[in-house]
Amino acid sequence: MFDLHVLGVASARPSHDRNVSGSILKTSEGLVCIDAGEGFQNRLAEQRKHIKAFDSTSRLRVSKLSVILLTHGHMDHTWGLLPWIKSLSLEGRMDELLILGPTSETIFSGLLNDGYDYDIPDEIPTAELFRQMKHWIDMGGKTSELNYKIRWVLGEIHSNRWLEIDSDSKQIIELDKQPQPSGWTQNFVEPIATVHSVPSCAWRIASKSKPGKFDRVKADNAGLSVEEKKQLSSGIDVVRGETTFEAQSFRSQSKKGHSIVISGDTAAPCKGLSEMEPADILVHECTFLVENTDKADEYLHSTTLGALENALNSKSRFLALTHYSARIDDIGKAGSEVIQNMEGKELPICTLNDGDRLQISEDGDIRHLVKKDNGWQ
Ligand SMILES: [Zn+2]
Ligand SMILES: [Zn+2]
Repeated sequence: MFDLHVLGVASARPSHDRNVSGSILKTSEGLVCIDAGEGFQNRLAEQRKHIKAFDSTSRLRVSKLSVILLTHGHMDHTWGLLPWIKSLSLEGRMDELLILGPTSETIFSGLLNDGYDYDIPDEIPTAELFRQMKHWIDMGGKTSELNYKIRWVLGEIHSNRWLEIDSDSKQIIELDKQPQPSGWTQNFVEPIATVHSVPSCAWRIASKSKPGKFDRVKADNAGLSVEEKKQLSSGIDVVRGETTFEAQSFRSQSKKGHSIVISGDTAAPCKGLSEMEPADILVHECTFLVENTDKADEYLHSTTLGALENALNSKSRFLALTHYSARIDDIGKAGSEVIQNMEGKELPICTLNDGDRLQISEDGDIRHLVKKDNGWQ
């Protein structure tokens, strides 16, 4: 049901055999890209080649891309975006593409007040996403050059306010709510505020709960009229004299939705992640080992312990570690540190590598597939 392809687990810069951030999630309604650091499209092409060669049961069709979710504007999460959206155009994309990312209160108000040509104050970090979106638009990220429309959308996550930059008219339009990928009815995406040196958020991609099925046979056996059955199936109890037929008892149990949360970069503990609805899978950064806690605090990143803390606080079902600094030569150490500090708590974890996959089935079963030379294991 959800199949996450992790295409880079390095923090800040490529190291050893790790690339910078970027993932693709396959859902029943289309693909979701979460961050696209340097070389993203090459890594995606490589992954697709590997699927074609070794996994006949799966496909990643880039034409099915529904939305790109950016966690923040640091280049290791965004530098691969522009070349990729240009390639999508060369591949003949016609469908509108939604791109969502976080911005600050200052930029949000500035854009609403002064419009597209708002003079960004010098103290705003270079990694501000509006700066980048503006450059990308100027460098061809507009309908007239791409032949498909990009909806460039920025959100001020704490106040849940959203605006769209119309790349063609250069208008700034405030939206009444966060947009969802076009045509989606079964799944949704939502941001969770995180703590980093620039405006940042995690992204939850979730399937909606499905109501239980109406039990027609039971209704027939109860001798209910067509009208009464209609009433029951719409959720309203039927009262007949002394007897009440409860709508709920004519419906099988509803099916809970599933979700995967991808943290982006964040310090820990992080209120947003700690207090969020439990996720089936929390993919969490762990840039540093515990011995570099001072560095994690300085750069507003997490250690292995921080990742564990956010996962336990949120009561998520599974923790997947990613985004390792080049200092971590062996990611097994990161996994061991988490396990050593579990203190008897039950939380399955894994350490991700480039090309690994994480899957959640319809029934909520979670699998970590490790990329091998001849497929996944
Ligand atoms: Zn990063
Ligand atoms: Zn960052």
